[in-house]
Amino acid sequence: MGLKIFFDVDYTILAVDNSLRPGTRDTFEKLISDGHDVYIWSGVGLRNAEIRHHDLEDLVSGVYRKPIQNYVAGLLEFDVPHWPDFVIDDYPEIVETFGGVVCQPYYFRSASDDEMERIYGIISEFAETGESAQVGYRAATNGRPPTQE
Ligand SMILES: [Mg+2]
Repeated sequence: MGLKIFFDVDYTILAVDNSLRPGTRDTFEKLISDGHDVYIWSGVGLRNAEIRHHDLEDLVSGVYRKPIQNYVAGLLEFDVPHWPDFVIDDYPEIVETFGGVVCQPYYFRSASDDEMERIYGIISEFAETGESAQVGYRAATNGRPPTQE
């Protein structure tokens, strides 16, 4: 079953200088090819300009504002039309709510950063088995409401 996978922006896919984390495009392409959908959200607001700037628009199914507290209620408040099945963020709390990966923060441009490959591995394992023992993986503490899409 395809997952709706939500990526944070700052320090998850973008460094302080707004450069794109190595492997981001490749990882998005692989996830989509595996049957998943990739979404972008940010606590700062809508980041369409950055997604366009890095030429990721063709891979991203939606760009949303991310709740920074009361995450589940925030989906409705910020018009996020999908339940996030899997969240990748450098900030643990939202990951612990929906389940996903707390990633190593990407602050500074680094050609040798291989976190995206590791994230892809965890997502693949989760998609297959429903869990992962790898560092950074968090199971959801807030189950998907049965009535929500
Ligand atoms: Mg962040």
